[in-house]
Amino acid sequence: MLKLSNVNTYYGPSHVLQDVSLEVNEGEIVCLLGANAAGKTTTMKTIFGLVRSRSGSISFDDKAIEKRLTGDIVASGLALVPEARRIFPRMSVMENLEMGAYTRKSRAELSHDLEHVCDIFPRLKERLKQQAGTMSGGEQQMLAMARALMSHPRMICMDEPSMGLSPIMVETVFNTVVRIRKEGVTVFLVEQNASMALKLADRGYVLQTGKIVLSDTASNLLTNDLVRQAYLGGA
Ligand code: ATP
Repeated sequence: MLKLSNVNTYYGPSHVLQDVSLEVNEGEIVCLLGANAAGKTTTMKTIFGLVRSRSGSISFDDKAIEKRLTGDIVASGLALVPEARRIFPRMSVMENLEMGAYTRKSRAELSHDLEHVCDIFPRLKERLKQQAGTMSGGEQQMLAMARALMSHPRMICMDEPSMGLSPIMVETVFNTVVRIRKEGVTVFLVEQNASMALKLADRGYVLQTGKIVLSDTASNLLTNDLVRQAYLGGA
């Protein structure tokens, strides 16, 4: 469904993504693990055209997207939950959700989608009028996920959804990821919380200083020595 082949991304002279190749198939949850500064966020930004790759190809549904505009990529069914949530803090919860639906035109579709995300995130339903920036970190993360779902994606990319959240909120976020997949949305997840991510993912990739060094089923990665030492605290 999503395929990166030999993608190279630079910031000026700095060669951040080095020949990154990975694939996410329809219906899967795939996670991308990596330490700080490995290039995980850059991978997400490159997929969405927020940073341009210098070489390599990226396809979604077998169509090349590496030169397309971010809005067109989202309209084609791929949504992003960005790092650190990046909701619109001064807008209400409702307005944030409407922003997520900008690719959709009909009011009827919008209210149907709104009902749907409120069903998944009852906490947001109670707070539709609240200024988004006044919500807790966990609530803001839910809003970021709900906003992405408003574009009716067939696949959703999430950049560290558990970052900075309390253990109970982390669990809520991961339960939601599982629910989203059950509803037929494919999930590509960037995470530092390797043990949680690998428990719910089907497969995973490990990114080290811009290179994919390992790719395997999630259950094999959980018992892999490199993963255990580097990302699971040697546990
Ligand atoms: P973290 O988990 O800390 O968010 P990450 O794996 O997501 O890390 P990236 O944010 O992709 O890492 O950064 C990869 C490398 O690229 C880092 O060395 C970072 O300093 C550098 N980098 C990121 N954004 C820019 C930028 N806009 N200009 C220059 N260098 C950048």
